[in-house]
Amino acid sequence: MAVSAKNPYLQNVRDLVRAPGEMRERDVEILSPEKLGEGLAWVPEGQSIDLHLKFESLHEGILVSGEVDSVADAQCARCLRDLELPVQVEFQELFAYPSDEPFDYQVQGDHVDLEPVVRDAVVLSLPFQPECAGGCEELELGPGITLVLADDEQPPVLDARWAGLARFREDDPTTEER
Ligand SMILES: [Zn+2]
Repeated sequence: MAVSAKNPYLQNVRDLVRAPGEMRERDVEILSPEKLGEGLAWVPEGQSIDLHLKFESLHEGILVSGEVDSVADAQCARCLRDLELPVQVEFQELFAYPSDEPFDYQVQGDHVDLEPVVRDAVVLSLPFQPECAGGCEELELGPGITLVLADDEQPPVLDARWAGLARFREDDPTTEER
């Protein structure tokens, strides 16, 4: 497997290799080399990802525990408004020394490549159906109101029978953005 010097997920574990009992902690901030996730929530390319990492040397390999912190862009599945969602997820994975036994992840020389581990942890943590925190604004109008989202140039179409209710929302001091 090719080891790219440009891969920010590549972590040096030279002083831990074949040294069971040794442990290191390391905080790393990387910029995501690619978009993570598809659908309605994703971490965009170039987004900052904070990694708090713990490396433990075991007899069979290096155990890597990590806390991942980032921010995802998303679109509300109900009202299509743009959202930002905090991404906080943990992982733990054993990177085994090369051997005859098949392992998902292996120590590569004196490095471990955290890219697939972090990517999977982040992608699995993203919601399939992101929604506005505290409910979509349109839905705060009340039950039984149908709101149709139109093109950007046109105002939303509100059922005329309920139009009078809209001003209560505007007058309501408890109504806040998001
Ligand atoms: Zn919404």
